[in-house]
Amino acid sequence: MSRTVVNSDWYLFESSTLPTGVMGMAWLHPDDGTPMVSYSSDLTDKERRLTIAHEIAHLVFDRGCGRTRTTEMEERADRFAAELVSLMRPAKRRVKRKRK
Ligand SMILES: [Zn+2]
Repeated sequence: MSRTVVNSDWYLFESSTLPTGVMGMAWLHPDDGTPMVSYSSDLTDKERRLTIAHEIAHLVFDRGCGRTRTTEMEERADRFAAELVSLMRPAKRRVKRKRK
């Protein structure tokens, strides 16, 4: 079963049908270039955040995953994801404090 989160600018899918060992994928829709991100439904919350950020990095830097993935591309996506997730932590804490 897949869950789709739709935004006017991009699509985010939770998928239980990704190949074994694949945590996420990113691509541009062939018809209109809409950014698409899919992540495995088997991920923990932390893995899901890192995977989505990693896939966003592929969209930003590599125009999606593509068929050719280099070690440099994967390392850059990992660094981007780690930075983005770490930057989001203080913002998440601020939002939680304001809600109390
Ligand atoms: Zn990757």
